[in-house]
Amino acid sequence: MIPYGRQDITDADIDAVVQVLKSDYLTQGPTVPAFEKALGDKVGAKHALAMNSATSALHLACLALDLDAGDWLWTSPVTFVASANCGLYCGARVDFVDIDAETYNISPDALEKKLIEAEQQGRLPSVVVAVHLSGQPCDMQAIHALGQRYGFRIIEDASHAIGGKYLGDYIGNGRYSDITVFSFHPVKIITSAEGGMAVTNDSALFEKMALLRSHGITRDDASMRSASHGPWYYEQIALGYNYRMTELQAALGLSQLERLDEYVERRHSLARRYNEKLAELPLKTPYQTDTGYSAFHLYIVRLDLTRIATDHRTVFEYLREQGIGVNLHYIPVHLQPYYEDMGFAQGDFPASEAYYREAISLPLYPGLAESDQDEVIRVLTQAISS
Ligand SMILES: *Cc1c(COP(=O)(O)O)cnc(C)c1O
Repeated sequence: MIPYGRQDITDADIDAVVQVLKSDYLTQGPTVPAFEKALGDKVGAKHALAMNSATSALHLACLALDLDAGDWLWTSPVTFVASANCGLYCGARVDFVDIDAETYNISPDALEKKLIEAEQQGRLPSVVVAVHLSGQPCDMQAIHALGQRYGFRIIEDASHAIGGKYLGDYIGNGRYSDITVFSFHPVKIITSAEGGMAVTNDSALFEKMALLRSHGITRDDASMRSASHGPWYYEQIALGYNYRMTELQAALGLSQLERLDEYVERRHSLARRYNEKLAELPLKTPYQTDTGYSAFHLYIVRLDLTRIATDHRTVFEYLREQGIGVNLHYIPVHLQPYYEDMGFAQGDFPASEAYYREAISLPLYPGLAESDQDEVIRVLTQAISS
């Protein structure tokens, strides 16, 4: 099976992890801060906080922004469930904004329309999670301008987007948002096995997330209520979690980070090959904005079902049967049973639902051989023309 995504592990990565295994610290040593520093410097963020997953990072980002019971979090339906669940973790309510039909990211026009209605109904969101689907940045200037006007804070879910750029600068520099979150799951651009990172330029948000990452415990005199009882002393001053990243994970992530640009370039080069070789087929190749440089986590095609004799599911199943590990990103979150139980239904977000009926993610990862890519193209061509 040619998978849709796959990690790339080098000898240098393995050596880095083995070094940590032989060192004094498997957790809470020097490697996590080194990874945080390197990643923050790379993307141009003042502060970076590593965690055990992007899901944890999204949760703490919401808590740092004071998302609370009674508040609303809005995001796109076309995302992984974690982009929405983080709001529910905080007791907030979740709603969605439909996607743009070209980019598949949250539509600034739909966002503005919904904000106008929400203002009249007194249910404006406190937080909007902008998901950079497939690594292509959202229209952050437009979202940021709406945030200024309607008073919501912005989290960029850049789980797909590390190494991508918006208006020439790396995603994560925080110019148009409060906090940006990256994922290092093995299918993502770089990996730490499991892991995530929250980056921000706001020291207060950073301090709050850092506290919550480790049980809400502080050893900083200035933050304590009482005078220290002695060198062992610490205080729990908030209800936090254990969301820490291990030294092993950080060593792998730090080693992978060195190849970030190389990975993204390779993904672009494979995407260009797909674009050329799929140009004549009845499907839409990924639209690219002129303000963004995608990290190309995913290469998503949309079938033109009006020009295909067969249907979406048959094409998908044929590809899988022939050893092509295609996938579908994503089932719109509002159609998940858990969300349907909150009152969401088919028909709520038509652009997202139309996308879901036509989309297929083709294999794309740095180690994908051009001969394997040609096989994907051959089987896809066959699937569509049968
Ligand atoms: C992968 C992913 C996440 C969750 O990342 P984890 O590190 O697995 O927790 C969140 N949002 C999006 C858009 C993702 O693709």
